[in-house]
Amino acid sequence: MPGYELIGIEEKSEIDSIFDSGGGVLFRHGFENIRGDSYKTDEFERVFAKKLGTSEALAVSSGTAALRVALAAFDIGEGDEVITQAFTFVATAESIIESGATLVVCDIDETLNMCPAAMESVITSRTKAIVCVHMLGVPCRMDEIVRIAKKYDLKVIEDTAWGLGASYSGKALGTCGDAGVYSFDYAKMVTTGEGGMVVFKDLTHLATARAWHDHGHHNNPKVPRWQDTRSGPGFNYRMSELQAAVGIAQIRKLDALLESHRATSKLIEKAISTRFPITVRPSPNNSIPSHDALVIKVEDNLTAVRIRDELAKLRVSTKILPEALSWHFAGSWEHLHPLIKLMPNQTKEFKRSSKLLNNCVALPIFAKPPPDLIDSISVSLERVFGKNG
Ligand SMILES: *Cc1c(COP(=O)(O)O)cnc(C)c1O
Repeated sequence: MPGYELIGIEEKSEIDSIFDSGGGVLFRHGFENIRGDSYKTDEFERVFAKKLGTSEALAVSSGTAALRVALAAFDIGEGDEVITQAFTFVATAESIIESGATLVVCDIDETLNMCPAAMESVITSRTKAIVCVHMLGVPCRMDEIVRIAKKYDLKVIEDTAWGLGASYSGKALGTCGDAGVYSFDYAKMVTTGEGGMVVFKDLTHLATARAWHDHGHHNNPKVPRWQDTRSGPGFNYRMSELQAAVGIAQIRKLDALLESHRATSKLIEKAISTRFPITVRPSPNNSIPSHDALVIKVEDNLTAVRIRDELAKLRVSTKILPEALSWHFAGSWEHLHPLIKLMPNQTKEFKRSSKLLNNCVALPIFAKPPPDLIDSISVSLERVFGKNG
C-alpha cells in the first residue's frame, strides 16, 4: 500500500532538524531570527515540483483543501457548475459544494474513471470546470477530457489524490490539465499524516492560490507579516512545518515505492490473469499507472462479493471495491443527493457506474507485500472459480 509502510527514521530525522537547528519553528513564515535556514514547507514544495517536472507547487493542509484552493484560484463559486465523476472519494464532491458552485456528476466508463462522452453530455452554459479523478492511480482519458474542455472553455482540475508518480503521454499526472491536486493522507502513496499539494499550468493561478490559502497574504519575507499586502479574500489551508518535514523524507522514497508497487502488481497479475475468468482494469494508451491497487472485473456482483469474502478469510483486505462503495460512489451519497444537480437524462442511482463498479474487486498492493499475499489471492480465486478457473 502506501508511504506509511516506509515511514521511519528518515522522517524522524527531518522533524528533529526543525528542533536541532531550526529553533523549533513550526510555522512556514516569519521568525527569521530563530529559525536559521529551516524552511521545511518551502523545501517540500521545491522537491515535490522537481519530482513532477514542474516549476512550482503549493503545499496545503489536506487533499480536500487542495481541491478547494484550486477551485478558488479559478474564481469558481456561486452560479457556476463543476462536473466530477460518479466514482471518487466524497471529498471531491464536498470541495465543489464548499466552493458555492453547483455539483454535477457524470458516469464512468470501463476505465472506472470519467467517461469523456458522459462528461460532455452534462455540460451547460454554466459549466466552468471539470474535476476528473485518477482513481486508484489509473490515469483518466486526458486527451479526450482536455479536448472537450478546450471546446467549451472549461478548466480541468485533476484529482491526483491517487496517482502521484503515474504518467500520461510522458507527463506526470496532475500536470496534463490546468491544475493538479494531491493528497498526503495516511492511505496515499506519500503521506504526511494529513496534507496536500496543488500545481497549476499557469503560474498566475498559483500566485492567486498561494494568497488565497493564507488569508489573502501576498507573503513578503522582507517585511513583518502584518505589513503584507492583500488584494482579495482567502482562508487558512496552510501546511505546517512538521507535515512538510515528513513529506520531504517521503518524496525521497517515491521512486522506490512506485517500483515496488509496480513489481507486486505485475506478479499478482501474472499469477491470476490467465487462470481465472477475470479482466484486469484497463489503463489508457501511453499511460503508466501508479498501481495503488489492482482492480479486476468479474462476471457479476455475487462473484465479486464471494472473492472479497474468501480474501477476508485469509486476512487480505480489498481496497474500496466492492465493499467501500458507500464513500466512493455518488449513487450512495444519500446525504449529498439534494445537492447534486441531475441533468434530464440522469437519475441519482448512476446505474451505468454502479453496474461497472459492483462487478469489481480491488486487490491491495503493498510496498512491502506480506510473503503469502500472492498465494492468498490465488487460493481465494481458486475457492470461487475452482482450481483451473
Ligand atoms: C484521499 C482523497 C481525497 C482527499 O484527500 P485528504 O487529504 O484526505 O483530504 C480527495 N480525492 C480523492 C479521490 C481521494 O482519494
